[in-house]
Parts: sequence; C-alpha cells; structure tokens
Amino acid sequence: MRKPIIAGNWKMNKLAAEGARFLMDIREKVPEEGRVETVVCAPFIHLPFLSEAARDFPVSIGAQNMHHEESGAFTGEVSPAMLSDLLISHVIIGHSERRQYFNETDETVNQKTHAAFEHGITPIVCVGESLEQRENNETMDFVESQVVKGLEGLSEEQVKDVVLAYEPIWAIGTGKTASSEQANEVCTHIRKVIEKTFSKEAAEAVRIQYGGSVKPETIEELLSMSDIDGALVGGASLKEESFLKLVEAG
Ligand code: 13P
Repeated sequence: MRKPIIAGNWKMNKLAAEGARFLMDIREKVPEEGRVETVVCAPFIHLPFLSEAARDFPVSIGAQNMHHEESGAFTGEVSPAMLSDLLISHVIIGHSERRQYFNETDETVNQKTHAAFEHGITPIVCVGESLEQRENNETMDFVESQVVKGLEGLSEEQVKDVVLAYEPIWAIGTGKTASSEQANEVCTHIRKVIEKTFSKEAAEAVRIQYGGSVKPETIEELLSMSDIDGALVGGASLKEESFLKLVEAG
C-alpha cells in the first residue's frame, strides 16, 4: 500500500511572520495517525523556523529547489548539505516554473535528484507537458523522457523512495484541473515507464502525485484514482483552512 502524500508548494509567497503563523495555526489540527504524509514546501527563508517548529507534529518541511553541489562558489544558491543540516526532509526538483524561468533541464534534475539521495532528502521530481504538447499528442512520450532522464542512474531502492509529481503545465495556476481520468492516464503511464526502466517492485512502490489547480473540491476524486498517490498543491495550499481540507481528504 502506498501512503498518500499531500505537499503544499508555497512558491514565492508569504513573509516570515505569515509562514510562522500558518504553521502554528495548523499544528493542532493536522491528523495525528499518519495515514497521509503531509509536507509544506516553503521558500528558503522560512526553512529554519518551520523545520524547528514542525519537529513535534506530523508535518514534514520541504524546500522548492536546491543546487546539486555540496558547497562552493555558487552565489545565491543553497546546497543539499545546508538543507539536511536543517533536517529538511523533502525537496521539489525540476518544477516546470524552474524549467521555464531558470533554465533547468532533465540533466540538472538528474544531478539534483542524485544529490538529494546523497543527503538523505526525498526528491519530489516534477514532470509534465505543455498545452501545445498535449494538443500534438506528445504527452506520453515527453513525460516518459522526462522521467527516464530525470531518474537515470538511480538504484531500484532509491526509485522506490522517489516522489514523482505529474503537473501538466496547462493546469498550473489556471483553475483548469486535468480531469481525474486525464491525470490518472499519465500517472499510469509513468508507473509503466518505471517498471520498464527499473522493476515491477519499484513501479509498485513509487508514489506519483498529481499537481495543477488541485482544490479541496477536487482532491477526493483525484485520490480515488488507481495511480494517483497524492497531490502537489500551489494556490490551495496557501490558506490554512484549504490546506487542512486537502490533508484530511488524503
Ligand atoms: P496550483 O495548485 O496553484 O495550480 O499550482 C500547482 C503547482 O505548480 C504545484 O507545484
């Protein structure tokens, strides 16, 4: 049985005090029993506080990016060693916004994914097609190549611990959620790609999230699908109340 994973991606939102308030507000209300894995992926400036404050309740704290090198002359970057030092447990890698605005490629995604494992951080590796690719019927091939290149060289055991996030670009921040069938179709394909590239066991263990305009009203149906094991949520993760509803649905 794969444990559902609900991750909020705050993107570039919330000042320090707002982030702190969010965590304090949800701390008493997050379901205890660990049925769902709950993650909040925040901008770097929040991480020291959130990581410390979340230690005694079941919310994991994640980053939204990192460099792949341990340290060095990379002005403005944050290393995996810095994240693991703060007990950051997850990191989003290769979000479409990073691919689009910051020139990230499947190669950098692969380097960062390896680096995450070297530092004991769970990578949330994002893949997903553009509207044009969908309209040209290129979705399956494109997503397949992102998965294969992004995970290249990982061991079977590592692949079991990867979280993949299928986020069609046309559904991000647009209010246009993929239908649960559309989302599941691609997640099923991703699982087959993992089976073909690694093993059946890895394919059965790997968790695949859907992301793109997920809301409390749509989460239950998405999670009821055979190959969707959670959600990576932007806008609806910013308000305490809707984030808690998403977690409760998991
Ligand atoms: P929205 O939920 O705001 O569409 O964002 C999705 C996303 O990009 C999560 O990483």
